[in-house]
Parts: sequence; structure tokens; C-alpha cells
Amino acid sequence: MKKVHNFNAGPCVLPKPAINAAIEALKDFKGSGMSVIEISHRSKDWEAVMTESEALWKELLNIPDGYRVLFLGGGASTQFCYVPFNLMNKKAAYLETGVWANKALKEAKYFGEVAIVASSKESVYNHIPKGFTIPTDADYFHITTNNTIYGTEIKEDMNSPIPLVADMSSDIMSRPVDVSKYALIYGGAQKNVGPAGVTFVIVKESALGKVERPIPTMVDYRTHIKEGSMFNTPPVFSILVMNETLKWVKSLGGLKVMQKLNQEKAAILYDEIDRNKMFKGTIVDKADRSLMNICFVMNDEYKDKEEEFMNVAKANGMVGIKGHRSVGGFRASTYNACPKESIQALVDCMKEFEAKNAK
Ligand SMILES: *Cc1c(COP(=O)(O)O)cnc(C)c1O
Repeated sequence: MKKVHNFNAGPCVLPKPAINAAIEALKDFKGSGMSVIEISHRSKDWEAVMTESEALWKELLNIPDGYRVLFLGGGASTQFCYVPFNLMNKKAAYLETGVWANKALKEAKYFGEVAIVASSKESVYNHIPKGFTIPTDADYFHITTNNTIYGTEIKEDMNSPIPLVADMSSDIMSRPVDVSKYALIYGGAQKNVGPAGVTFVIVKESALGKVERPIPTMVDYRTHIKEGSMFNTPPVFSILVMNETLKWVKSLGGLKVMQKLNQEKAAILYDEIDRNKMFKGTIVDKADRSLMNICFVMNDEYKDKEEEFMNVAKANGMVGIKGHRSVGGFRASTYNACPKESIQALVDCMKEFEAKNAK
């Protein structure tokens, strides 16, 4: 197999042991003589995977009693409307820190009043707004912890006087989280915890049942709590790969270890971006810099070299480092499964490029 350094933003690199276990299960699921995509989702062997998956989430994130973990379809984008459907009576508050946050709040507007508590839109989302006040008359406060496109991240669990809801699509399982501070956490699996097709929802049961509107069965979290995420056919293959990915996280030592690895990896690349004469980071405030999506551009005097560097990086096996079209430049996504060697290889490329091209 061709050797590449995969910096894709999502879907993205996954741990090899998880992929290998998935290949085995695709061929023969637990010695059943059938593929995992051929078995009944009502079989005992499959139910065991569902139970184990929820248990792994609870163990790794140290989720307190009173919370459930759901595995649904539809992606994080469908959660943008699930959340107001289930939690909003009249008013919700949103922190606008990027394109995903903006998409989330647009959906909430179908259900009532949306207060944008603070926004960094005017400066192309290059920082996390600070010093805002969360309105106490809103039903919940929604944040996007990691901004996949712009490369900013809220790395600490904030205190909120009203129920806190977080889209953690792109930094879940990258650090320990104090789940007790949140009413709900959701995300698509395809960045840190598995392939596309499964959406995780961590929900505090006591936060539900407070809205006046009737909720259609499929969109009501209580349906999926009651049925253990098996009200309808779950995305079995995606859940299986997620399960194996979480086992890999556990085998490395859990989220404290993962956080340390992620901090070390990000530091290698950010240090080079700050040191190298030809490049600069797009996120000015270092405290806001994402450990998952590292964005950088050519320094002004080297703007004309962007394409050349891209070609050199590609020739050296780098995949997926083109920045989002709204930011330009480069973005290296350094999720849990991205090895340190890949980051080192990118840094080596940047060093060589500087040695050959810097004035
Ligand atoms: C990728 C991403 C989404 C969208 O996820 P889908 O599963 O494709 O709907 C939402 N929010 C954030 C922060 C993301 O990174």
C-alpha cells in the first residue's frame, strides 16, 4: 500500500488496528459465518456491540450517571435541528465561532428567537470571542468547541447558568471533558471516533421533556433512549468501526494520554509555523489555536510560492493539506489517529522549502 501522510479534515485518518478489526468483521462477524453487514441488528452478538459501545463512551469520558449515549444517523448537521426541537421553548443562545456554528443557529431560528451572544464572523472567525454574557432567559447555550474550518478551539469546559449544548464533532475524545457541565454533546463520528454514518449524542436525561411542542418520534431523543439507539436499524458498520476506534483509544491509556499526545503533536507543527520565515499561522491568539486543525498560510512576501509548496508537499506524500476555500493556504488536521511521524514529515518539508527558497 502507498505510504501517505493523511491530513484530511474529515473523513480522515483512523487507527490501523480499528480498520483491520473492521475488515475481519466484514468477512466474518464473531465467527458467525456472516459479515457484520449481513447479520440481524437484533441478534445477541450485535446487541453486545451496542452495549459495549455505550460503556466505552461512558468509561473514556467518565460520563456521570443520568446521561445516555445515543448512536444515530443523519450526521451532526441533523442534530442542528434535533437540539432546538427537543430543548427550545422560545429562545436559545448561540456562540458564533465558525461556519458550523452559523449553520447550527440558522436551524434554531425555525423554532424561535436566537440570541447570538458573541461572534467572530467579522474577522473571518480568527479567534474565540471572550467576555460575553450568557442570557439567563434562554433555554440553552450552544457552542462549537472546535472550529474545523478556521482552526480555533475552546479547550476548556465553560460554566453556563443555562443548559450547555456543544457540537464536539471535531475534538471529541481528543481530551478529557467534564461532561457534567453539559446538558448535551453531539457530533458526527467521522473526525475522531470513526467513519461517517454514525452520530453520537451524549444527553442528560433530566434536560429532556421540558418543551411544549409535540416532537415527531424519530427526532425525539427519548425514543432513542428508550430503544437503546435501536428504534430503527442503526448504522451497524459505522458503529462497529467506532467501537474499535474507542478500544484503540483505551489501549493507549485513555483521554489524558490522548490529550498529551495531541498537545505534543500540535506543538511540533505550530512551533515550525512560528519559526519558519516563509509561513505564518492564521490564528493570532495562541490560546485559541486548535490542536486538531492547524491552519497556516505563506508569509506575505512569499505569497507566490503557495502552489509550489503544495506540489512539494504532495510529492512527499502529504494528503489533504489544502486550506478550506474560505481561508486559503493550508490546513493540517491532526486528529487522534494522525501519527507524530506524519507531522514531522510535514515539518521537514517546510524546513527544506525554506532552505531552498527563503530570501
Ligand atoms: C464536520 C462537522 C460538522 C458536520 O458533520 P456532518 O456529520 O457531516 O453533518 C458539524 N460540526 C462540526 C464542528 C464539524 O467539524
